[in-house]
Amino acid sequence: MSERSRVVIKIGTSSVTGADGQPNAALLGSIAQQIESATVGHDVLIVSSGAVNAGWSTIGAGKPRPSDPAVLQAVSAVGQQLLMRSWADAFGAQGLVVGQVLLAPHDFETRSQYLHARQTLEQLLDLGVVPIINENDAVADDEIRYGDNDRLAALVAHLIGADRLLILTDAPGLLTADPRHDANASLIEVVTEIDAGLAALAGGPGSVGSGGMSSKIQAAWMATWSGVETVIAGATSPDVVRRFLEGLDAGGTTFQARQRSLSARKLWIAFAVAAVATLIIDDGAVAALHDDASLLGVGIVSVHGRAVSGDAVEVHDRSGSLIAKGILKVDLTNDQAPESPDGIVIHRDDLVILATP
Ligand code: GLU
Repeated sequence: MSERSRVVIKIGTSSVTGADGQPNAALLGSIAQQIESATVGHDVLIVSSGAVNAGWSTIGAGKPRPSDPAVLQAVSAVGQQLLMRSWADAFGAQGLVVGQVLLAPHDFETRSQYLHARQTLEQLLDLGVVPIINENDAVADDEIRYGDNDRLAALVAHLIGADRLLILTDAPGLLTADPRHDANASLIEVVTEIDAGLAALAGGPGSVGSGGMSSKIQAAWMATWSGVETVIAGATSPDVVRRFLEGLDAGGTTFQARQRSLSARKLWIAFAVAAVATLIIDDGAVAALHDDASLLGVGIVSVHGRAVSGDAVEVHDRSGSLIAKGILKVDLTNDQAPESPDGIVIHRDDLVILATP
């Protein structure tokens, strides 16, 4: 790789913080040093977790981590500045300056916020500053959940038009099985397309502080659908960041980018907005959706859940397979077909096909 590339590197709580819950200065220092020593031109943005862990290890007096979201939000405020101090030290030792950017899901939903976030990140890169991004846990109106930063990293990668995304975690990459239950589990090196079978491999959350593989695969799905190649690799594997930046094999699992990427709005519909109901549609409607048509009332077999115009819903075929996700044009109630069979239930502009035909 000779051209300057733009990459997002996401590091999870279990890697950013050490056994004592405090930021792991040695690992952060190593990451900064690898970024500085890479021999190719690159713009790097870091998405760092670890605020809650660092905060609680400072004020929790050895008690188990609380589950009350209000307490976690407050704790994150303590940890976030400890995290930033560590990142500033790590990059400072390489002669680099960091800037903190805290983003909430809302910032990706509201177009003006979205554009401002992009502008700020672009300016920071222009100024030679390394942006260190986390979710704005202290004020975000959703619960702090492990795994959110995987999604955040994918959204950021899309936002700033990254070439590649590196998700560093406490596993070596995506394995064929859960190594805790299967001694023959081996690393999957390349994934050309994320399908339902692969998503099933992801399993549940693993060790404390890890969002598990499932949120990472979801992030890889989002990123690759945005045209961003994604690598999931072990945070402590030797020279992983430098090798990734230089385009060498960094170990881990590479998810190839899709050729046809989604618009920001469709990406948001597909992966960021929570679906509140499920529509089952008939085979004719499935075929029509694959032909780029809108979903009409006539194609709906049943409705599970209650949703109003503007809500996101999943669209399944009769066998229950996920076909698409979209934003409703009408109100729908449990098991009640829409009043007008010819009316548009989801407009094609608000519909994302997630299944392969
Ligand atoms: N934003 C949370 C933190 O910094 C972590 C979220 C995540 O691990 O995905 O503690």
